[in-house]
Amino acid sequence: MRVLWVAVQRKASSDLSTVSFLPPLRKWVDENVGIGKRFFIDLLEQSEEIHSKDGLTRKYLLRLTDGQVIETVLMEYEGRFTACLSSQAGCAMGCVFCATGQMGFVRHLTAGEIVAQVQHVRRVLAESHPDRRLRNIVLMGMGEPLHNYESVMRAMDVVSHPAGASVGSNHIAISTVGYVPHILRMAEEGSPYRLAVSLHGSTEEERSSLVPMSKKWDLETLIETCRTYARKTGRKIFFEWTLIGGKNDSAETAGRLAALLEGLDSHVNLIPLNPTNGYDGSSSNGGLEFQQVLRDAGIPCTFRQRRGIDVAAGCGMLKADRLRKDSAVSV
Ligand code: SAH
Ligand code: SF4
Repeated sequence: MRVLWVAVQRKASSDLSTVSFLPPLRKWVDENVGIGKRFFIDLLEQSEEIHSKDGLTRKYLLRLTDGQVIETVLMEYEGRFTACLSSQAGCAMGCVFCATGQMGFVRHLTAGEIVAQVQHVRRVLAESHPDRRLRNIVLMGMGEPLHNYESVMRAMDVVSHPAGASVGSNHIAISTVGYVPHILRMAEEGSPYRLAVSLHGSTEEERSSLVPMSKKWDLETLIETCRTYARKTGRKIFFEWTLIGGKNDSAETAGRLAALLEGLDSHVNLIPLNPTNGYDGSSSNGGLEFQQVLRDAGIPCTFRQRRGIDVAAGCGMLKADRLRKDSAVSV
């Protein structure tokens, strides 16, 4: 069975008929693996591929067996490759500036569909850069990963397995809007993956106007949960902050954020807003003042690469763009 695992998970083979197995295993594979049989390899059909102008970001629209379409992105940074995966078709959390949130929730992805995204980008990478391997994974595509906890964790356990894709668990980051019970579950289960929490607001009012889920798990509870997580795991927490001009980008807000995070081992990632329906306010001074306030308070703070904005690299943006075009055609 290890031979089969290596063929499917390490070599990302999609066609087992070309793999040489010893006769008993060949017989078992022929009888049990394939569409309509006990097991099948989840192949995602690529419906579109877009490259950014600098060639460093490649974005894939992938069609699932029921026709749903999700986005997967492969990014290159200083010769290292990162995959950005989707965890759901759509998202139930409704963040107002997010193209996926604006679409609403369709369904959770299975663990197989999440692993299949990794295998898809690994096959692409093997063709373009045979000497390179996929190093990092971020769950920052479509969906809220901690709302689909079991499938996401199962998929990450598979892709981090040393006999498989072997992406180090410390190189896998799970980004959450603040799904409190499952942040605690990660701590309790000793999950080896990195935690990133999307904050976007330094007061309850500021946050819940952007992140409706904050009404269920408010800012105070979320920060308390992060403190519990940090205490139990001893791990650093990454905080994400989408900078929206006139909403959450002032020096005062940065000061309040620094106070909220005091004593927590944290790193703040600033994300310039990718314009979406009704949200286009980029930060006036590019967020530099915001960054400086945090740094002065001793909190590491960097900008996330604004990579591939020309391929609609924001979460769910390409799919939303295609949906708009489709509906424009049908009316
Ligand atoms: N649901 C998870 C992970 C997917 S979103 C979460 O919210 O954390 C990944 C990150 O992209 C989040 O920090 C989210 O706030 C951010 N994001 C979503 N839409 C964006 C946009 N239009 N511009 C900039 N960042 C955006
Ligand atoms: Fe969902 Fe994350 Fe988008 Fe919010 S930002 S709607 S949680 S995908």
